[in-house]
Amino acid sequence: MVKAVRGFKDILPGEAEKWCYLERLACKYFRAYSFQEIRIPILEKTELFARSIGQATDIVEKEMYTFLDRNKESLTLRPEATAGICRALIEHGLYAKAKVIKLYTIGPMFRHERPQKGRLRQFHQIDAEVFGSHSAGTDAEIILLAWEILTAGGAKGLRMEINSLGCPQCRPRFRDALQEFLEQSKAKLCEDCQRRTQKNPLRALDCKNENCQKLYEKAPLIEDFWCSACREHFLEVQQYLKQWNLVYEINPRLVRGLDYYVRTTFEIKAPQLGAQDTVAAGGRYDGLVKALGGPDIPGIGFAIGIERFLLVAQLPDLTPRLDLYAIPLGKRAYMTLLPVVQNLRQEGLMVELDHEGRSLKALLKQANKLKAKAALILGDNELDQGIVLLRNMETGRQKELPLEPQKELLKRLQQELGAPCDS
Ligand SMILES: [Zn+2]
Ligand SMILES: [Zn+2]
Repeated sequence: MVKAVRGFKDILPGEAEKWCYLERLACKYFRAYSFQEIRIPILEKTELFARSIGQATDIVEKEMYTFLDRNKESLTLRPEATAGICRALIEHGLYAKAKVIKLYTIGPMFRHERPQKGRLRQFHQIDAEVFGSHSAGTDAEIILLAWEILTAGGAKGLRMEINSLGCPQCRPRFRDALQEFLEQSKAKLCEDCQRRTQKNPLRALDCKNENCQKLYEKAPLIEDFWCSACREHFLEVQQYLKQWNLVYEINPRLVRGLDYYVRTTFEIKAPQLGAQDTVAAGGRYDGLVKALGGPDIPGIGFAIGIERFLLVAQLPDLTPRLDLYAIPLGKRAYMTLLPVVQNLRQEGLMVELDHEGRSLKALLKQANKLKAKAALILGDNELDQGIVLLRNMETGRQKELPLEPQKELLKRLQQELGAPCDS
């Protein structure tokens, strides 16, 4: 038997309802914040990610799902959505349509990591990007949006961490100071951090190695290097967050190693998840669109990991509940019920119809199992009398309804069944 590829997972019925619920919830918030949906391909030229995410990162060096296609072109399954959205923004000139463009997308991302401890090669993100605004108000709004989507999903115990990464004017001095610090401690660093010291010192601060983390407690802090404009911008962001009533912590060690990331950066963590506790992460990337060959316009965005969101979400009971189970006893009854069922389904009611000609007893048992509100029973006796039986599956009480005129019957059924269960 052929099994699913390692690191790829099926989302089965029962589970899929939860995904649908969270995705719809996110869409509701994106709409409320006046975002528009964009759908981009899952496959891009490898060059796009090499240029956007950066060569000297773990993602590009060892985690991308890259392959040569039949034309020997190097392609990559997207490891994140930002680069593809920036490409689309440039390719279609979307930036010319409005001063500020707000986009979101929801879908699968891919990383070719060793599949371990629930780390999947296909994982899913809710992604938001805003282009064209330098304002601190946009930073605060994007942070709030990520927070509100998560809390609307019932996520408990979340922590918001924010920081500012400075800008091309002030960050290089921090980078130099950090590099010097790393050089001095070189012998004690892990292999990865030794490598990062030269290529990408900021990435070292992300190291999961405990020894490294202990050392970095004494590392220089970016806040001591901010220029006055960056300091002012960050204070303004915080001022708005307070006005939105959002509780946050400043984490001075929250950094990103990529050059185009500037100023505000944030992560939403759920400490109960342990080592992999980041549920959402985002930040400002003012240099990225230009680096990809577009105009010099700023951007900021975030991604929520849906798998982790599901781990902390508290969802209502999403078991689908059938409105009506139609039970025809015999071919004549079956033919009579077909248009009735069709009409009720068009009205949005969830209706199941038996095609197998099973016995009344078996079908009532099935209706119970599916938690049907009611069963519609039609046999030869009822047909001869011109009626149909509507059985309340909770009380077992039955009502006789006239079969004709059909318009009247449909009206009665809708009254009896009320609004669709899943409306
Ligand atoms: Zn600065
Ligand atoms: Zn390290």
